[in-house]
Amino acid sequence: MNTLKYLLSDDALPTHWYNLQADLPEAMPEVLHPGTKKPITPADLAPLFAEELIKQEVSTERWIEIPDAVRQILLQWRCTPLYRARRLEKALDTPAKIYYKWEGVSPSGSHKPNTAVPQAYYNKLEGIRKIATETGAGQWGSSMGMACSMFDLECLVYMVKVSYNQKPYRRALMEAYGATCIASPSDTTESGRKILQDDPDCTGSLGIAISEAVEVAAQNEDTRYCLGSVLNHVLLHQTVIGIEAQKQLEMAGDYPDVIVGCTGGGSNYGGICFPFLGEKLRGGRDVRLLAVEPSACPTLTKGHLAYDYGDVAKLTPLVMMHTLGSGFVPAGFHSGGLRYHGMAPMVSHVLKLGLSDARAINQLECFASGIQFAKAEGIIPAPEATHAVAGAIQEALRCKEEGKSETILFNLCGHGHFDMQAYIDYHEGKLRDYEYPEEAIAMALSGLPSV
Ligand SMILES: *Cc1c(COP(=O)(O)O)cnc(C)c1O
Repeated sequence: MNTLKYLLSDDALPTHWYNLQADLPEAMPEVLHPGTKKPITPADLAPLFAEELIKQEVSTERWIEIPDAVRQILLQWRCTPLYRARRLEKALDTPAKIYYKWEGVSPSGSHKPNTAVPQAYYNKLEGIRKIATETGAGQWGSSMGMACSMFDLECLVYMVKVSYNQKPYRRALMEAYGATCIASPSDTTESGRKILQDDPDCTGSLGIAISEAVEVAAQNEDTRYCLGSVLNHVLLHQTVIGIEAQKQLEMAGDYPDVIVGCTGGGSNYGGICFPFLGEKLRGGRDVRLLAVEPSACPTLTKGHLAYDYGDVAKLTPLVMMHTLGSGFVPAGFHSGGLRYHGMAPMVSHVLKLGLSDARAINQLECFASGIQFAKAEGIIPAPEATHAVAGAIQEALRCKEEGKSETILFNLCGHGHFDMQAYIDYHEGKLRDYEYPEEAIAMALSGLPSV
């Protein structure tokens, strides 16, 4: 076996997803109805989500079986490789061992199909004809488009306008899979028209695009909504990453001291971390978890833990999460997938319980780390993934300073082949560091709903 790479055979693909809710020392806070602000019922959610996904959202069962039809598709690119970053270790001259799980080998180039495929599957099974969703940088829209084409579903994607204009190739990919892609805010929904009336030049946000997609799903019997991050069932589907990594590290004869991931909505982070955290909570080995977010969208490090809406029009249920306020419109910096105002309730909960750390890193350091990684390992990380790389490098340098040979595992959640404009801008010195100003955060947070 190649000493740099740890690959599992096809039949080692997990048969079950791991549900952290079974092992949490304190149960997750309840989800509230946006109108009544009372605990939400499955019937309230039925117009939006497939029934099976609603069940998974609140399940406390530890292992949930992956349907065979879903496994058959995941097998096309899973198990994904785990690499030992020996050349990066050497470049950093660190005594630490660095491993990375490589999720960029999926057809759309990121971890997102891990949940797009089961979401499409359950909707198809329940007789749904069409999926409405949103996308920021385009990773989710292209993954959902792919999954819909595999299950013969129509797919309508509201794409944040600034990305729609900046990333024509992501849009082309969605269209190649047969999806319809609309720049958001648009005049096709009431929420979109309302935003455009107030601000005709609005470049959009995930919160706005979600409102448009949710509106379409709520108003059409044959249409359901899908979300690519944040929700419990999405994090559940992403646990294939961590479960595989556990087996691969066992092959390597190692165990992580620290696990690093980038957090936009929290799904790839939860996916790699939660199986390890579950083992720790059941009396297994200790492990430190480190979430890395952009300084320009500091949800975990500067946001509040509070009940908030998932979208700008306040159509979604209220969830307890770290948030910058649903009216948050991020600065136009490049890590498109990390620009959401909220954070997965499960990742927020785990942080509150002291089971995870969080750190914000500026984008210039992230790009510098991404380039250092590309030079050593050959892979161009997605701008989002450079945050995980930067976090792992910081940890490796800390180990060097402290003379510790810790084992670091990080998730390389996607490739940057569609994001080369960001690398061009970086090289031309056009990118700037941006700290979201305290006053702007205070302003956005003052609008939080009272419950
Ligand atoms: C969508 C995306 C993210 C952010 O989403 P999470 O739910 O936090 O994982 C990060 N990296 C890539 C490559 C993405 O496509």
